[in-house]
Amino acid sequence: MIKCTGKSVLKGIAIGKLYVYRKKEFSLVKTRVEDVQAELKRFDQAVEEAEKQLETLYQEALTSVGESEAKIFEVHGMMLEDEGYLEDIKNMIKENCNAEYAVKEVGDNYSQMFAAMDNEYMRARSVDILDISSKVINILAGVGQDAIKSDEPVILLADDLTPSETIQMDKNKVLAFVTIHGSANSHTAILARSLNLPSLVSTDIALLDEYNGQTAIVDGFNEELIINPMDDVLSALSAKRDEWISETESLRKLIGKENVTTDGRRVNVYCNIGGVEDVDRVLEADGGGIGLFRSEFLYLGRDSAPTEDEQFESYKAVLEKMNGKKVIIRTLDIGADKKADYLGLDPEENPALGYRAIRICLNQPDIFRTQLRAIYRASAYGTASIMFPMIISVDEIKKIKEIVADVKKELADENIPMGEVELGIMIETPAAAIISDELAKEVEFFSIGTNDLTQYTLAIDRQNQKLENICDTHHSAILRLIRMTVENGHKENAWVGICGELASDTSLTKTFVDMGVDELSVSPTYVLGLRKTIREI
Ligand code: PEP
Ligand code: MG
Repeated sequence: MIKCTGKSVLKGIAIGKLYVYRKKEFSLVKTRVEDVQAELKRFDQAVEEAEKQLETLYQEALTSVGESEAKIFEVHGMMLEDEGYLEDIKNMIKENCNAEYAVKEVGDNYSQMFAAMDNEYMRARSVDILDISSKVINILAGVGQDAIKSDEPVILLADDLTPSETIQMDKNKVLAFVTIHGSANSHTAILARSLNLPSLVSTDIALLDEYNGQTAIVDGFNEELIINPMDDVLSALSAKRDEWISETESLRKLIGKENVTTDGRRVNVYCNIGGVEDVDRVLEADGGGIGLFRSEFLYLGRDSAPTEDEQFESYKAVLEKMNGKKVIIRTLDIGADKKADYLGLDPEENPALGYRAIRICLNQPDIFRTQLRAIYRASAYGTASIMFPMIISVDEIKKIKEIVADVKKELADENIPMGEVELGIMIETPAAAIISDELAKEVEFFSIGTNDLTQYTLAIDRQNQKLENICDTHHSAILRLIRMTVENGHKENAWVGICGELASDTSLTKTFVDMGVDELSVSPTYVLGLRKTIREI
């Protein structure tokens, strides 16, 4: 028995024979072409043919996995029209280079450029560039698209897979895939998730032919590939797989259904995201909107704060992808465990009780104004709401509103279009919950952040593993604060949601519905399970 670890793309289990997939290689040598015009024409025709193939793939994907995943091929089509990419190839051809080599060279350069980018989403695009380049090269060289062939359903073991390869797999024959390279954010991973294929990427295994035909288990829960499992391991994981299959199959029937209780109470089930790259998962899971966009992730892992334009592009992309559904952007919640060196924040004795979130924004309004400008500019492209974290007083909201009004006036003076933007606050401090009657008069909604509300109510540092055993997330003090917040919000016509982890705890769903909670915002993985629970109440 061999055990290897990787990064799980989907929590599920597949058991079957391994199939070692190697891409068809052919040598790409640089040759000198004399008739440059003819070579340019050959290249243009290949691009045209590649576009046709992408259109076919798009249509195939549309029926097999739906519109949001099919878009990958639309994006590939757009990349194929990129002037910089096409010009670079044509310039090489004009220097008497054969088209195949020029496409390979330019494709590799662009791919490396993406691979070196800071942003994880952009890095993951490097494989898309290689995919479109190899499509054009295959057409130029007269090589057909490699098919993945096997008579029985298999676990595909590959170096890496492109989105085209993934979508072309015969879904009845592929149980899972395991790749040595690849990121969990890549389009291939996104496709695997929507095809419900439990898969592993970045796996520490070699691509050896001797694995062909060996029995293996992909355990997405434990992020493991087990080759030649022992009998007891095989039977335990078979049982776990059967349970998982029947659960997920019945959940997918709920796509398109409403989150409504048997007596007609509707609850919005929205999703929590950290960036644009998460939106596909929201759409796959049929999330009704985005209840928490943790915007601070845009500020982390870099040397300087994101500019207004960079932020605008991210918010706009999320709003456009959500196509009119509500997107609640939380303003910068940095500090405590989320640190950015360039902000120059001093180390503190008690960072969770320290200079963080709205406290930084109100004290350093330049940072805050930049973010607000970006959000309001993006608001013209969808349905945006803004919420403010770590609120403890009415005074803070008054100050926020002054800044918001000023930013809006500035943008209006610049003739920048803006949409209607709802304003709300997070209720994540006991102070905010206790004075929620006063706060409700100032805002249109509350979103209860149970992660911090629990830490501050129980005086238990959420980072401290030693205290996990006494951290009772169902503590009646927390439930009472939630109930109080919902009642106070409703008295002033503010709607009330929960966006902390407790929102996905289905043992509390009925309690929340009974309290009158209007919205639950959870990770996309939990949307359908939550819908099922709500529909059974
Ligand atoms: C919370 O505190 O519950 C919350 C949703 O915010 P975060 O987990 O980002 O602090
Ligand atoms: Mg919080």
